[in-house]
Amino acid sequence: MSYNINITKIEKSKVSDLDFNNIPLGTTFTDHMFICDYDNGQWGNPRIEPLETIPTHPAAMALHYGQAIFEGMKATVDKDGNPMLFRANKNAARLNTSADRMGMPNFPEDLFVEGLKQLVDIERNWIPPQEGSALYLRPFMYADEPFIGMRAATHYKFIIIASPSNAMYSNRIKLWAEKQYIRAANGGTGEAKAAGNYAAAIRPTELAKAKGYDQVLWLDANEHRYIQEVGTMNIFFMIDGKFITPKRDGSILDGITRMSVIDVLRDKGYEVTETMITIDEIKTASRSGTLQEAFGTGTAVGIAYIQEIGLDGEVIHVSDQSPVANDVNDTLNAIKTGKVEDKFNWMTKIKN
Ligand SMILES: *Cc1c(COP(=O)(O)O)cnc(C)c1O
Repeated sequence: MSYNINITKIEKSKVSDLDFNNIPLGTTFTDHMFICDYDNGQWGNPRIEPLETIPTHPAAMALHYGQAIFEGMKATVDKDGNPMLFRANKNAARLNTSADRMGMPNFPEDLFVEGLKQLVDIERNWIPPQEGSALYLRPFMYADEPFIGMRAATHYKFIIIASPSNAMYSNRIKLWAEKQYIRAANGGTGEAKAAGNYAAAIRPTELAKAKGYDQVLWLDANEHRYIQEVGTMNIFFMIDGKFITPKRDGSILDGITRMSVIDVLRDKGYEVTETMITIDEIKTASRSGTLQEAFGTGTAVGIAYIQEIGLDGEVIHVSDQSPVANDVNDTLNAIKTGKVEDKFNWMTKIKN
């Protein structure tokens, strides 16, 4: 299906004000946004407009009942400066998985990708060229119907905004294995990229930071033993030359970096198993010297190398170096900047 996306451009781009080597994190936005409205049971009026504030009715249902979901992905440039998207169709599909769980309408996947492509095309001068830097893209959907009462909304907005970012987390990170608070329980919303999941994580993350840790390592809701994921990342462990990562059970986010890292590791000849992993197993591996590396994976950070995991009364030392994770990170970055052949067919080029 082809869509007619109406484009209104701003008069003068703000990109000339940006220092590409020193981009303030999360506060810099490009000139335009993509918007589409859901009304009368269908999506309509897809458009790209100058980014500006949106008037909100105080009874907008997202503010009260939390129907709000999002995606996160990145656009990079190849060595000739051509913009590219990484596995955009996976984000389009995942948005709809989240929408299903939260009782929200699906957004047409081809329009999701087309809107992204046209927005990135218009904002191509905002894509930082340095390796590890990128134009972060944030597609999201929320209920903007003014209504007091508990039911699915009938009016939504789907929007894409874009924010240039430099590489993050060059430092090794420390995780706090959380045994009091939980992120997701069986039957809950853990697999949805829903705003509310983050709301519930903010306080535990602040407490972990106050103890000197960077992020929370979430454990299962019943026994506080099984490892789920980290803040905004999935997690991998290398034990005795082989990799393990928590298997998808409805409580963890189906990370696109996670699935890509599994492919890259297997391609490099490593065995990767998706399985249940207990915190005790990791402690035992650390004590016996078989725990070689651990790292988090997510779009925002790429790969974050884990130094240690703290839990009540003890510390699990992971490693001081992460050569394999570093190699995987280099491979992913090389694919995203077109420096090596895209043998997995992950990149979508945006034509002039
Ligand atoms: C987005 C997200 C991830 C990482 O997913 P990617 O597709 O790799 O960016 C992991 N965990 C949570 C909770 C997330 O929201």
